[in-house]
Amino acid sequence: MDASIMDGSNLNAGAVAGVKTVKNPIMAARSVMENSPHVLICGSGADDFAKNMKLEIVDSSYFFTERRWNSYKKANKDKFGTVGAVALDKNGNLAAATSTGGMTNKMKGRVGDSPIIGAGTYADNKGCAVSATGHGEYFIRNAVAYDINALMKYSGVSLKEAANYVIMKKLKDQNAEGGIIAVDKAANFVTIFNTPGMYRAYNNSNGFSQIAIYGNN
Ligand code: ASP
Repeated sequence: MDASIMDGSNLNAGAVAGVKTVKNPIMAARSVMENSPHVLICGSGADDFAKNMKLEIVDSSYFFTERRWNSYKKANKDKFGTVGAVALDKNGNLAAATSTGGMTNKMKGRVGDSPIIGAGTYADNKGCAVSATGHGEYFIRNAVAYDINALMKYSGVSLKEAANYVIMKKLKDQNAEGGIIAVDKAANFVTIFNTPGMYRAYNNSNGFSQIAIYGNN
């Protein structure tokens, strides 16, 4: 599993890649951010770090589910299984986090975009917070999360325009599947994907909330 987290108020970030025994990889990513001088720790070093930080450790069998096992056997169904979150708090701070088991049928040792700051996760109080799902190799090559933030910041286009350009034009032109959720400091948010659907939900402090699978907004 891979996970990363970023604090838009100070650009601090933490990530783990290829962990096998941390029950909540996102907590390990947060611990890397808060309790180590590093940004990304991988493999057994990351599992050991999480253990030293007294995070909950489980046997790898804990992560077995019948549904994912069946989709693995069917090879190409349910390729993506990432969980992401972006948030804006009342002080104007943005944050983003992403956690994944990676793409189905990936090679042993393969690491996708989810633990790569700038690819699958990015947060910057001066721009936006982004969490991505999709074909990680393309998200790394295109530095997707950072690209959306940079496009917004440097060119002055809206978050929606920036996200639309990167997901619906740049990635689509490369036949790259995926999508993002993002929010900016003015509380504008976007969920956009070039796949048939993306499980997503949002809510705000006024009690407005919604969940959806299909149909871009
Ligand atoms: N982006 C993830 C990866 O490439 C897969 C996913 O979104 O489910 O590892």
